Amino acid sequence: MVMTAREVDPRVQAFLGGGPKRLLIGGDFVEAASGKTFATHDPATGDRLAEVAEGDAADIDRAVQAARRAFDGGPWPAMTAAERSRLIWRLADLIEERSEVFAQLETLDNGKPLTVARRDDVGGTVEYFRYYAGWPTKIEGATVPVSVADTFAYTLRQPVGVCGQIVPWNYPLMMAAWKVAPALAAGCTVVLKPAEQTPLSAILLGELCLEAGIPPGVVNVVTGYGETAGAALAAHPHVDKVAFTGSSEVGRLILRAASQSNLKKVSLELGGKSPNIVFADADMDAAREGAAAGIFYNMGQDCTAGSRVFVEHGIYDDVAQFIADQAAKLRVGPGFDEATEIGPLVSQEQLDRVLGYIELGPGEGARILSGGGRAEGAELQKGFFVKPTVLANARNDMRVAQEEIFGPVVSVIPFRDVEDVVRQGNDIAYGLGAGIWTKNLAKAHRVASALRAGTVWVNTYGATDAALPFGGFKESGHGREMGFEAIHLYTEVKSVWVNLAES
Ligand code: ADP
Repeated sequence: MVMTAREVDPRVQAFLGGGPKRLLIGGDFVEAASGKTFATHDPATGDRLAEVAEGDAADIDRAVQAARRAFDGGPWPAMTAAERSRLIWRLADLIEERSEVFAQLETLDNGKPLTVARRDDVGGTVEYFRYYAGWPTKIEGATVPVSVADTFAYTLRQPVGVCGQIVPWNYPLMMAAWKVAPALAAGCTVVLKPAEQTPLSAILLGELCLEAGIPPGVVNVVTGYGETAGAALAAHPHVDKVAFTGSSEVGRLILRAASQSNLKKVSLELGGKSPNIVFADADMDAAREGAAAGIFYNMGQDCTAGSRVFVEHGIYDDVAQFIADQAAKLRVGPGFDEATEIGPLVSQEQLDRVLGYIELGPGEGARILSGGGRAEGAELQKGFFVKPTVLANARNDMRVAQEEIFGPVVSVIPFRDVEDVVRQGNDIAYGLGAGIWTKNLAKAHRVASALRAGTVWVNTYGATDAALPFGGFKESGHGREMGFEAIHLYTEVKSVWVNLAES
């Protein structure tokens, strides 16, 4: 392993140092059938962090078979709900014990500021598992008064089966948790495929599942590329359900693979281009800060990033300038530096993509108020650092306003009134998140109802909670994660008819 001179926890060093990381299949850590590995890199420096097994279709098949055995005949589905609950809680405790290890792995692999990885990614993951640890004992069916004489009818809610779970690189551990936790609570078994850019925390999560006592084969982790391992998982005929978070483009491929194989259930959490709306009657300090934080959090690599800030006429120049000033003040640097607010983007590919949009904006008539290219400074040239960028005088029909950039780039767009902003806000293929800043309560509720988005934040932006459903309208996805909605995703309802008539 190559490391730069930074304070890396010895447990992280040990995790990274012991030879190529392996796949977790059926409770064993194994090499890929092909013997191939790939490297994962630190986006702040370009340094290689570790070699990781490159799983492909053959490994996915082995993992699905292991998950199938664990589901069809293993101890997991036969366990009492209370036992499953205790094991999920124990997993949460183990993640909490290793918080610092997870946080450092996330920062090394993804680039995000360590302070954020600790608080949000790892802290959020622990809470998420704890929330779902409470669910196994509460998954109920119903008795239903059917209108047929001498009949007793009831429903059972049963686990959907073997679940393929394909997650992205922007919150590697948390996205895995969003999928694994409800699947376990429902009694399913899992094949998890982390993103090739950020495989490390999922491997450690797999280790802790075993340590917690979750039976072998219940959670399998196959690292590898999307076009090979991911595609094989989506197409596998013995997978009952696939859950995916990532780009809308890959979401379409997953749906196609499901429809061309066994019509497995599919849930999708896809892209966004969320409107964050500042009305002139808002608490202006909170609104302007919320508009800036809504786009620059996690370097804008967030599907709910408030990447279209709509500002009411009259306050447009003031708000746009404030966001630009905030952008200029944000401290860009390596995530390991605790003063860093903006880390690197995850990869060269993302850097090229984001810089392409930054170039496109002025060509379409937008004006760069702040940022506008790679971050300066010799230390930052090795990594994928970009300056937070504000595009003013933007229009909703520009490509920079319609396409998901997935970086710290915001289009600031003027609007006239409620009707105008609802029309513009909804004039987009996506429907994941939206923000509204106003002191007028009636207006806030009217606009919240009119916006076609899965989550609307009023006088706040970006919060999520394990208990509250999350997902998208339109091309932002299918289904809802979090809360009981995720239990729905991972269970099938069975209706049982019993004839009570005397023969
Ligand atoms: P991004 O473009 O932001 O990297 P993707 O949607 O490509 O996001 O990736 C999200 C996840 O989907 C990753 O785990 C990736 O490996 C996986 N993936 C990519 N292509 C495919 C595919 N064709 N089939 C299944 N999974 C895929």
